[in-house]
Amino acid sequence: RNVLELDRVTKTYGSQPPVHALRGVSFTVRSGELVSIVGPSGSGKSTLLHILGTLDRPSEGTVRIDGEDVAALTDRRLAALRARSIGFVFQQFFLSEHTTVLENVADGLLYGGAGRTERRERAAEALVRVGLGDRADFRPGKLSGGQRQRVAIARAVVGRPAIVLADEPTGNLDSRTGAAIIELLHELNAGGATIIMITHDGGLAAQTPRRLQVLDGRIVADSAARSMEGV
Ligand code: ADP
Ligand code: ADP
Repeated sequence: RNVLELDRVTKTYGSQPPVHALRGVSFTVRSGELVSIVGPSGSGKSTLLHILGTLDRPSEGTVRIDGEDVAALTDRRLAALRARSIGFVFQQFFLSEHTTVLENVADGLLYGGAGRTERRERAAEALVRVGLGDRADFRPGKLSGGQRQRVAIARAVVGRPAIVLADEPTGNLDSRTGAAIIELLHELNAGGATIIMITHDGGLAAQTPRRLQVLDGRIVADSAARSMEGV
């Protein structure tokens, strides 16, 4: 099953002169894959992330998330699809300091219709999965950077979204802590999560089964593809 399909996606910013951030990007991601997206600064990775995450719409081309063509959806339905199908992990964690680790993770289920008790139970399970079962009642500020990123990852996966998008998830961590976060992403992937990770760390990317290399708004290499037509 394809959880993500991009077909000839372009993104152009402005008009004088236009900036062609993405120039005809096509690829599919199947359920259960672990993919890294690599490329130099300015190559289009963030633009691609925004489009994969439905935070932005392409100028041309088609994006299908879990089989749904996102162009056909109103902003409101798109927000619902995003809440249901996509878990986000960013380098800045984005945790609330005003509440506990458990509540931060439970917030990942706010749009799913689960009641408070169920949200808290599922959040507790997700915290166990990321190795923080004993930190549920802490404030995020009491945790280390690596632990905070684990909380953010628990929040991203608690609703078992079709796709987890991670944008430089190790960008704010030292290399040892970062390696442990990558190991966690591998474990979650082994447990069934589909993960797409943007990184400019070639060493981390080299460990992932599939690498998409972006250059000047194009995918110039796909390590999992059997052929490279059109490149
Ligand atoms: P990366 O994430 O690989 O660094 P980006 O997707 O951020 O690359 O940028 C790709 C290109 O698009 C760059 O030339 C960048 O300057 C341009 N760009 C990105 N966002 C905008 C924007 N909002 N307006 C105009 N140009 C943009
Ligand atoms: P960059 O990769 O350019 O540094 P960030 O990783 O900070 O950007 O965030 C990528 C985009 O996602 C930004 O436009 C940001 O506003 C948006 N964003 C950040 N946090 C969330 C969130 N929790 N849910 C949805 N969108 C978010």
